[in-house]
Amino acid sequence: MADRIQLLPDHVANQIAAGEVVQRPASVVKELMENAVDAQASEIKLVVKDGGKTLIQVVDDGIGMSPTDARLSFERHATSKIRSAEDLFQLHTKGFRGEALASIAAIAHVDMQTRPGDEELGTHLRIEGSNVVSQEAAVTPKGTSIAVKNLFYNIPARRNFLKSDKVEFRHITDEFHRVALAHPGISFFFYHNDSELFHLNQNSQRKRIINIFGHKTDEKLVPVQEETQVVKIDGFICKPAFAKKSRGEQFFFVNDRFIKSPYLHHAVQSAFEGLIKPDSYPGYFLYLTVDPTSIDINIHPTKTEIKFDDEHTLYAILRAAVKHSLGQFHLAPMLDFEQDQNLETPYAYQNKEAEVPGIAVNPGFNPFQQETATSYGRSGAYSRQSAKGWENLFVDLESKSSRGEAFSSVHFESEAVSGAIFPPSDEKQLNEGTTFQLRRKYIVTTIRSGMLIIDQQRAHQRVLYEKFLRSMTLKESLSQQLLFPVSLNFSDAEIRVIEDLLDQLRTLGFVIEISKKEEIMITGLPPLVPEKEVRPVLDHLIAEYRQGNESTNLSQSDMLAKALCGSVSVKSGDQLDTHSQLALVNDLFACKESMLSPFNKPIFITLTENEIDKKFN
Ligand code: ADP
Ligand code: MG
Repeated sequence: MADRIQLLPDHVANQIAAGEVVQRPASVVKELMENAVDAQASEIKLVVKDGGKTLIQVVDDGIGMSPTDARLSFERHATSKIRSAEDLFQLHTKGFRGEALASIAAIAHVDMQTRPGDEELGTHLRIEGSNVVSQEAAVTPKGTSIAVKNLFYNIPARRNFLKSDKVEFRHITDEFHRVALAHPGISFFFYHNDSELFHLNQNSQRKRIINIFGHKTDEKLVPVQEETQVVKIDGFICKPAFAKKSRGEQFFFVNDRFIKSPYLHHAVQSAFEGLIKPDSYPGYFLYLTVDPTSIDINIHPTKTEIKFDDEHTLYAILRAAVKHSLGQFHLAPMLDFEQDQNLETPYAYQNKEAEVPGIAVNPGFNPFQQETATSYGRSGAYSRQSAKGWENLFVDLESKSSRGEAFSSVHFESEAVSGAIFPPSDEKQLNEGTTFQLRRKYIVTTIRSGMLIIDQQRAHQRVLYEKFLRSMTLKESLSQQLLFPVSLNFSDAEIRVIEDLLDQLRTLGFVIEISKKEEIMITGLPPLVPEKEVRPVLDHLIAEYRQGNESTNLSQSDMLAKALCGSVSVKSGDQLDTHSQLALVNDLFACKESMLSPFNKPIFITLTENEIDKKFN
């Protein structure tokens, strides 16, 4: 048999390697910025056009390269940062694989100008798809400028795979944040399509965080500091009151390198236990310094995951350090010496004589006035009576009973309940109010054939979802004007998401202006969104939007309707009076689809007389 194995030509090998290193424009941003950091720059400029698809340029004032180095830097496995395998265990630089520039040059047009501080003339080098097009001496400032144009121009499949400019831009912003947060001692500037987005001067860690995430962040931060033989921890956690429903501002840096670590995240999250709701995430900016020999960075081509020698110890130290900060800043629960004064009997009352309670008569009461079935609550939301203590008392019970034992034998019969679920006589029954609430979670009601158990949260989500969709499709925005406008602060990136959603938000009934940098002013809300929920609702929307953009191609209105109904709906644990229960049931069965929640979960189950009979056998 003839020999069949051949060595791949370099440019093909480079293209394949590029796939590992460069997934999207943001990867290029990361590599170029890290190279600039490694080159000891004191100022780094990032210029991006069209979400990085047209141009990504990084300009630094670092050590620059000689003409030979400039040429060599684009060879695969060409690096000035390590010389031997041992060096891998003593890394003090971001890069070390010597692959980034070679990979980038294989799949884009690259234009580099570079000059070391002690040379008069610099080098201008142009490379297209791994081929050097020109190299000449040039007059250029000290440092290096690398412009990467038309990314993936020679791999159409990859180029087509890129998301919209906005999404790619958001990824780039994330990378920019990470590098800028890791190096507060370096100035960073960021321009997108000719407008300046960030102008970050050299600063302290704290100021850097605030400059990126907005001045309101200042009041949220609590310092964390700990030094042991294994690790030095520095940085900030956000106060529990500012924990969010979505993951967002959570950053770990190990030896000034941003990393992702679900394990360490868990350590922080567990330190917050009891201080934040179980489904919310604390923000943090934590800088860990460890002995470089105790970590292995080499396990991921893009190097956001690292392996620690002694993860367990690190976990314990981190958790303790965060707990300590929470305690030190009086954020952890403790004996309450500042009890709510309203609950105590004022001293002056001790000597007061008892009074006969007065009886208040409502002269306007008209027993013949009928209330309509849908007049629940002022804002149109089902009146919610929050029951704080309840949640904790019953978590156990709740988790055991919910779809666990009690109803485990009840299955969801789609056949049986489709069609006319409320024949006329049953409907009458419903309107008469034969509903009750089970564990503030389910609404139970009878129908002719037996009983119906409705998940209140899912039911309300469905009702709201259809309402929101309707007002967006019909553009029939109903808005409730606020007595006092509400102003809210958001970071730059968040404001941009709100801008993207502005039109849709308006059709929903939000009256929003972007009043200043990092601030929006709200003067009107959809009738279904209570004022105190605006902040969480918008936070939730922003988070969903960011995620949604990545994972699905859902239409914007669908995403908005889902996110909104998810956050403003009645929840399990909310008490509903009979009136609201009834209204909700009626509204549910007026929906186009009443069996499945917008998130495709069953809304109710039936328990027929037959099935009940069987249980008594
Ligand atoms: P790595 O960073 O892993 O060494 P790269 O492909 O990113 O590999 O870069 C190759 C080499 O090019 C680096 O080791 C460095 O010597 C040089 N280099 C890259 N970018 C710069 C820069 N902005 N300033 C100075 N030297 C640079
Ligand atoms: Mg590099």
